[in-house]
Amino acid sequence: MNELENEIIRIPLLALRGLSVFPGMLLTFDVERQASIGALDMASKADQLIFLATQKDLTADMPEEDDIYHVGTVCRIRQQLRQPKGNVCRIMVEGLYRAEALAIDTDPKGYIADAARLYDKEERVSEAKMEALIRNCMSLFEEYLRLNPEVVTEQILNVLANPEPAFVSDYISQHVHFNIDDKQRLLECLYPSRRLALLAKLLTTELNIMNLEKELSEATQEQLNQNQREYYLREEMKIIQAELGEDGLTDDIGEYCERINALPADDEIKEKLLKELSRLQKQPFGSSEAAVLRGYLDSCLELPWGKYTEETKDIAKAKKMLDEDHFGLEKVKERVFQYLSVRQLAPDVKGGLLCLVGPPGTGKTSIAMSIARATNRKLVRVSLGGVHDEAEIRGHRKTYIGSMPGRIMNGIIQAKSCNPLMVLDEIDKLGSDYKGDPGAALLEALDPEQNSTFRDNFLEIPFDLSSVFFVTTANSLDTIPRALLDRMEIIELSSYTDEEKLQIAKHHLLPKQRKKHGLKANQLRISDEAIKEMIRSYTRESGVRLLEREIAAVCRKAAGGIAEERFKSLSLKEGKLESVLGPAKYKPNQIRVTDEVGLVRGLAYTSVGGEVLDVEVAVVEGTGKLILTGNLGDVMKESAQAAVTYIRSRARKLGIDPDFYKEKDIHIHFPEGAIPKDGPSAGITVTIALISALTGTPVRSDMAMTGEITLRGRVLPIGGLREKTMAALRAGVKTVIIPADNESDLEEIDQTVRAKLNFVPTDHVDKVLDVALRTDLENSICCTTKVPSQTDRCAVRQ
Ligand code: ADP
Repeated sequence: MNELENEIIRIPLLALRGLSVFPGMLLTFDVERQASIGALDMASKADQLIFLATQKDLTADMPEEDDIYHVGTVCRIRQQLRQPKGNVCRIMVEGLYRAEALAIDTDPKGYIADAARLYDKEERVSEAKMEALIRNCMSLFEEYLRLNPEVVTEQILNVLANPEPAFVSDYISQHVHFNIDDKQRLLECLYPSRRLALLAKLLTTELNIMNLEKELSEATQEQLNQNQREYYLREEMKIIQAELGEDGLTDDIGEYCERINALPADDEIKEKLLKELSRLQKQPFGSSEAAVLRGYLDSCLELPWGKYTEETKDIAKAKKMLDEDHFGLEKVKERVFQYLSVRQLAPDVKGGLLCLVGPPGTGKTSIAMSIARATNRKLVRVSLGGVHDEAEIRGHRKTYIGSMPGRIMNGIIQAKSCNPLMVLDEIDKLGSDYKGDPGAALLEALDPEQNSTFRDNFLEIPFDLSSVFFVTTANSLDTIPRALLDRMEIIELSSYTDEEKLQIAKHHLLPKQRKKHGLKANQLRISDEAIKEMIRSYTRESGVRLLEREIAAVCRKAAGGIAEERFKSLSLKEGKLESVLGPAKYKPNQIRVTDEVGLVRGLAYTSVGGEVLDVEVAVVEGTGKLILTGNLGDVMKESAQAAVTYIRSRARKLGIDPDFYKEKDIHIHFPEGAIPKDGPSAGITVTIALISALTGTPVRSDMAMTGEITLRGRVLPIGGLREKTMAALRAGVKTVIIPADNESDLEEIDQTVRAKLNFVPTDHVDKVLDVALRTDLENSICCTTKVPSQTDRCAVRQ
């Protein structure tokens, strides 16, 4: 190349638009302009060499000398391909060396330049620096290629295997998309190390721009994808909803909103609901969270906000209604009238809280229903039996799957009114365990002091329960939590006598069942005597539930016979019950005709009413053992032991061998051993039976007794006197020994029972020995001091 040094050659010039060619590089492009084709032709006719220089202004068709960069590359034309149509010619050139045009002749038939070759300048750069520059450029170039996958990586990297500085810089400069000015700067730089440094700088800038571009495009893409995805999902959702017939679902947010705003509730409550609604709006359709929120809003909107039924003020009308529905139950009815009277005088008094206590089937639930009817309140029944989880009363938090409002708020939703009468059945059967105390939650709902803002865990908003009339029912007061008991007004409903049952059956149960079975009065008649027999032989209960069931059975028979046309009407008389109801279920307790030794009738109070309970004592030779049998509870066993101790302390007076407890075995047995029995009220019965057995004195067979005793023989009061005395009468007993302290309770006892029984109140066992024992017979005992007795609360708890 030395021979070419400083030599100026005249060479055809081709002005490039937007392109640069570096020495050693191949480039293919199309040529179209007349001047360019002319230059090409000239070169083709000569030595195929052509000077390629870039024009500064891309738009100029016929650039002037100054419009063209003077430093360019002398190239060899390797190929040229003329297109069959038009003037376009595709050429492939190979860059040979840098050159500078000293003058350019812009002849429109073909530009010609006087050009001088340019050589790379010698420089004093260490090899290491050069190497570093090369490596830097190459790694930047690799990075560039990575970001710019259009460029064929492998081929290029192969070429880079030749790490000659001038080649590397030209190669990279050729293949990177720098702008024209930058490329020109690279072309004009004649120091390879500076060229490499410039290249590195330009590459770094370019990479930064590319990275930024990439980030931007990725973000845009992401946004685009997200939007597309959402659009797609929404469209899909619409289709699914249409398939499910739920097209309106998306509209229901608006509907919810309208309903919430229209609620006659506090703003605070509405705000809370709207907040939940906005959460629902953000949930994807079908998510479990959305379902929970929907359930929540539905429950809140279902509450009867501001809805009240107008209460009856007419006491006479209410009285008539209650009397129509129920026989007797005067205390409850009286209480309702009082309540209504107070309401008339002080309309601000809101709800009420009654507790009806009594054995099953005595009309507690049904009178509560009648109160609702008489006061024109909606009725809801909530059963509390077996509830031992606080959440059942107050609701589960809505975070739990399947959570819902508690029973109280559910009741309000069912009632569809803010002032219903809510019957809380079996409040005495509430349990409590590790899941909290439902009694405490109930207390909050029932307590008039706190229930104006009752907060259910699920609903989370306060609701005013102060207008609700609560009526609770229970079989016994013993198991009702104390705090609850204190707040309730207790009304006791006692067992019905047979006469009362007859009246209830005649006037209420029979007409009710006849109506239920579609029978007219003349199609089914049951005589009073037949009803009495039904009561005696087919039921054993304090209330009338079983009796109602038996009457229903008779109605079914009658309806069946009439429908099958076997008869036109049925008239049931005493003694004919067996053909309809089957054999009698209970045989009346037969009075024993003979007075026996060691056998005494006790009286027990069970959940089905009063019972006669025999006590048998046998004294046999032995070693002083005390045997107690008959499925007895601890209290009953202790009471029997107390009786033995009392007799030992009085043995001599009673004419009993003082060593009996050492030399005799005593067996105390309560028949009907399958039934568990407990309670202290058989004390007096056991004592009399023991004395009878130890003295060999018979006990009067027409006598029954009840009372708890102390170690000194005092007789203490018992419960359930009314039921016990009724049982005694049924069993044909004539005389009943009762604790003196229970004497006042005789007032409560039914008149018919009172008239037929002879009551002997006593406060000490000693005082009734001559009443109970046949001391008039041979082995009479010496002491017959009059003693009042106690009570046997021989509760046969089942
Ligand atoms: P409880 O709730 O006390 O267990 P219910 O209220 O269920 O008893 O009563 C059982 C049935 O006996 C009901 O059909 C009820 O109408 C009827 N009943 C109970 N007592 C009376 C009464 N005094 N007058 C009319 N019917 C009664």
